Amino acid sequence: MTESTTRIALVTGASRGLGRSTALKLAEQGVDVILTYKGSESEAHAVVRQIEALGRRAVALQLDVADSRSFAAFAERVKTVLANTWHRERFDHLVNNAGIGLHASFAETTEEQFDQLTNVHLKGTFFLTQKLLPLIEDGGRIVNTSTGLARFTFPGYAAYAAMKGGIEVLTRYMAKELGSRGITVNTIAPGAIETDFGGGVVRDNPQANAQIAGVTALGRVGLPDDVGGAVAALLSDGNRWITGQRIEVSGGMML
Ligand code: NDP
Repeated sequence: MTESTTRIALVTGASRGLGRSTALKLAEQGVDVILTYKGSESEAHAVVRQIEALGRRAVALQLDVADSRSFAAFAERVKTVLANTWHRERFDHLVNNAGIGLHASFAETTEEQFDQLTNVHLKGTFFLTQKLLPLIEDGGRIVNTSTGLARFTFPGYAAYAAMKGGIEVLTRYMAKELGSRGITVNTIAPGAIETDFGGGVVRDNPQANAQIAGVTALGRVGLPDDVGGAVAALLSDGNRWITGQRIEVSGGMML
């Protein structure tokens, strides 16, 4: 691809887990990547090197999606990186992936925990996207990240799943309002995937792993590449007419 037609994706939380897989799958499809991390700087730079080894360009930036006051300065950094690395003013795809889990019963969830989840997931997705809008190409794509837990119900995820449910509603409103610029907005809702998420319980607890496999049509828990591949596919040209949708990527969990 020539300089002007190479697509550029910004993936939040791509130092590990699903974001890392998404960044690498996009690079395999010929997409350049701006990736963000919160604390895992060396892991993020390792992802940059992997993307460069695939022949694509990548830049890692620090970002705390819970700190909305930092978003204006972050957008300026993205603008500078676009100009310096790509000689461009805008990027093509935004993947709002960064997130944390919380396992606490409804009765025991504290206001502090609730506020933290709000800031990371719902407020972060809302205002980071708002601040980055001028930097997204007309005809661009946005993918927000929900969870299977917004469709089915497991005890201990009331606050977390409520934030993700909010992201699903927000996705439809964003799709409606950004459609005039040709921008599509969709939600990916992963099932239980083997990452560090939630203390790595799905990956490291054999009982939890077997229980989830038992309620999954494809008979196993998910792996990061199951989701990264789906996000990259959603961002490919063949899916340009899909917008405002929730796409579950769970291997058929709790059907
Ligand atoms: P991981 O814990 O493996 O990775 C989380 C990523 O998000 C890291 O890159 C981390 O950065 C970053 N991050 C965490 N908090 C912040 C923050 N405040 N600001 C910026 N970046 C942050 O999680 P997963 O990859 O499993 O999860 C990714 C997304 O998928 C989340 O939104 C999660 O809710 C969702 N999800 C995950 C499921 C699963 O089973 N794994 C199931 C359904 C949804 P750093 O490395 O620097 O800490």
